[in-house]
Formats: sequence, C-alpha cells, structure tokens
Amino acid sequence: MIIKPKTRGFICTTAHPEGCRQNVKEQINYIKSKDPIKGPKKVLVIGSSTGYGLASRITAAFGCGADTIGVFFEKPAEDKRTATAGWYNMAAFEEEAKKAGLYSKSINGDAFSDSIKEKTIELIKKDWGKVDLIIYSLAAPRRTHPKTGEVFNSVIKPIGNPYTNKTVNFHTGEVSEITVEPATEDEIRQTVAVMGGEEWEMWIEALKTAGVLADGAITVAFSYIGPELTHAVYKNGTIGKAKEHLEASAKNITNLLKDIDGKAYISVNKALVTQSSSAIPVVPLYISLLFKIMKEKGIHEGCIEQLYRLFAERLYADTLLLDNEGRIRLDDLEMREDVQNEVAKLWSKVNTENIEEITDIKGYREDFFKLFGFGLSGINYDEECSEKVDIPGLV
Ligand code: NAD
Repeated sequence: MIIKPKTRGFICTTAHPEGCRQNVKEQINYIKSKDPIKGPKKVLVIGSSTGYGLASRITAAFGCGADTIGVFFEKPAEDKRTATAGWYNMAAFEEEAKKAGLYSKSINGDAFSDSIKEKTIELIKKDWGKVDLIIYSLAAPRRTHPKTGEVFNSVIKPIGNPYTNKTVNFHTGEVSEITVEPATEDEIRQTVAVMGGEEWEMWIEALKTAGVLADGAITVAFSYIGPELTHAVYKNGTIGKAKEHLEASAKNITNLLKDIDGKAYISVNKALVTQSSSAIPVVPLYISLLFKIMKEKGIHEGCIEQLYRLFAERLYADTLLLDNEGRIRLDDLEMREDVQNEVAKLWSKVNTENIEEITDIKGYREDFFKLFGFGLSGINYDEECSEKVDIPGLV
C-alpha cells in the first residue's frame, strides 16, 4: 500500500509504519546519546504508545536499561485501513528493545477495564514478580467505569462563563475567534471521571493488593498548567478540574503506599503537539508561538527531552526538586518570565496574514504529521509498504 496522510478535523486517519519506526528510532537515539540513568529496572507504562507515555517507555528502556510492559489502546491494520500510529510505534519499540536484549511485552486493550488490569498483574507476577515504576499517561475521550458500567465522555470547556479567544486551524493557518460555551455540571463530572485520578488509584490499589509493587515503588502521572491566556480553557476549565482530581489522587496513593515506602508524583509537563493536545481550542496557536520563542532561545524540548529530564534530573537524581505543592515541574522553561512575556506580546498581534512569519506554525504542522509517521527524512512516501505489522511482544 502507498500511504499518504489523510486528515479529518484534528486527526489524521492514516499512519505510516516506516515513518513511525523512524520517529521511535530518533527518540531512542536521543536517549542513547545521553548519559545512562541509574534508575528503575521494571517499568509499567499505562498509555505507552504515543506522546508522553511513549517517551517514558523509551527512556526507561534505553536510558535505564529497564524491562518494560506497555499498556495501550490501538488498532491494527484492517481491510484497507492502516493501523493507528501508536500500533506502529509499539511494533517499532518492541523490535528495537528485543535487538538491545531488553525484555518488553505489550498489552493492547482498555486500561479502564478490570480485565486489562488483571492481565497486566498476571504478566508481572509471571515474568517479574514486582514492578519499580508505574507511569500513568492515559489521555482518552471516554471511559467506561469498571464497576458501574457508566460511560463518561470528557469535554474541553471553560467553567462558569463562555470563553472567547483566538484559535488557529493549523492545517490552513487561518486565525479566527472562537467562543466556547461553559460546561454543565454533568460535563465537569464526566471529564473528571475520564481524566481525573480515579483509575490511577484503582490501578495502584490493584497492583498493591496483588503484592506486585516493589518496596519504594514510584508512580507518576502527568499534568499541565500553562499561562494565563489558556487558563479559561485549560487550568480553570473542565480538564483543569480533572487535573486537580489527579493531584488529590497522588496524595491518596502516597498514603496507600506508606507501608512500602512508595510515592506518587504529579509531573507538570510542557505543552507539546500530541494527538490529545491538538484537539484543544486555542492551545495549538499558543504552542505555535511558544515553539517559535523557545526555539529562538535554544530551550525547545519535545516529549523525549522532557522525559529524559524527568528521569535523570528529577526522579532518579540525588535530590528530587519539587514545587511548593509537591509537584515535579518540567514546565520550568516554558513558564520562564521572558518566554511568557514574548508569547503574550505576539499573541495580541497574531492573525492569518502574519502567522507563518511570527509563529512556528510550520513546526507545529511538522510535529503533527510526524505523530503519524509523515514527513520524516529518509522515508520514501511514494514507495509501497506493508501496512500489516505485528507487535512482537504482544500478549
Ligand atoms: P496521547 O494521546 O499522545 O497518548 C495517550 C495514550 O493513552 C496512548 O498511548 C493511548 O493508546 C492511551 N489510551 C487512551 N485511551 C486508552 C484506554 N482506554 N486504554 C488504554 N490506553 C489508552 O496523549 P499525551 O498528550 O501524551 O497525554 C498523556 C498525559 O500527559 C495526559 O495526562 C496529558 O494530560 C498529559 N500532558 C500532556 C501535555 C501535552 O501538551 N500533550 C502536556 C502536559 C501533560
């Protein structure tokens, strides 16, 4: 099959296996170019196939030499459809891990279900005994509650008042004003149920009850805060409420793990182009400005650079740097005053006419297509390739 990008709204409905492989390899090479990390040896990544979870799995394996189990929800190729990008990423990761002599197994299914938790625990019991680090990196539009069967949908909306600001269609570069109506109480409740910490707590409880957590086990989930200009739609909106819940869950989990000296952390990460963030209004325009400024200052990072810092300079450094709320901050460079002042200045000026010039919308687009394996150097996109790819360690 000759595979080209096909977009529908914010998503790309095709993915390129060779491009995804190249993308994974680039991240592995980055980690290999850095000093090895004295870190965990058995790592479970929940949401390991794309974005921050993928970078976590790569850093654990190729930075720490860890055995990894990845849990994700992706689709293999079927009929005339390609597999999802995360499927190809996991196939490439597994191949590279095996070549490097590292244990790696993958579980594809709904991480919100009890059956996937049970399957994961069985695998850990059988192959490892105990796990040292659990990364919780799910970003999902919906969740079926494992006990009640209720289906929750998450929405990205402000709370209280409608919110109007600039946004961009990053495919066309058209800047327009968007008004997002406030969420209802029920929408807030549902978003918290999907993106809050209830499932994170359930996972850790299940792992603890099964006796598979090593002494001193650590678990980390990711959050985002961002600048004032996105607060209405992020920090003070429905997703922000879910992140507040996630932070409360970190405290509950740390309590739960007291007897084994375990800890749960929230890591506040940088805004980056992922499948999830491209669906948030206003945020792609903000990211385009942010990237321009951070690149000019030589402080730009992608998921893999962020994750290397998380492991090497925070979690497994001699002292763990935390903010006043007990969180890890990897958004320190994004939130620097000089960076945010320049973003704010450009924000007021940006429009359809000057967007290509004063923002890094080009870089945004490139990163977006790269998520699906397109636009990578060294890949001939006019060549036939097989869309049917197996994940070697899939159980
Ligand atoms: P992503 O969309 O790239 O990855 C989501 C992962 O979740 C994928 O591996 C996917 O397979 C998995 N997943 C989704 N539903 C699942 C299900 N039901 N069962 C099993 N797996 C499932 O997202 P991301 O941007 O890397 O987000 C990960 C976390 O990082 C989220 O908590 C997000 O809020 C946070 N974060 C993101 C940003 C950003 O700018 N992208 C910034 C800070 C924090």
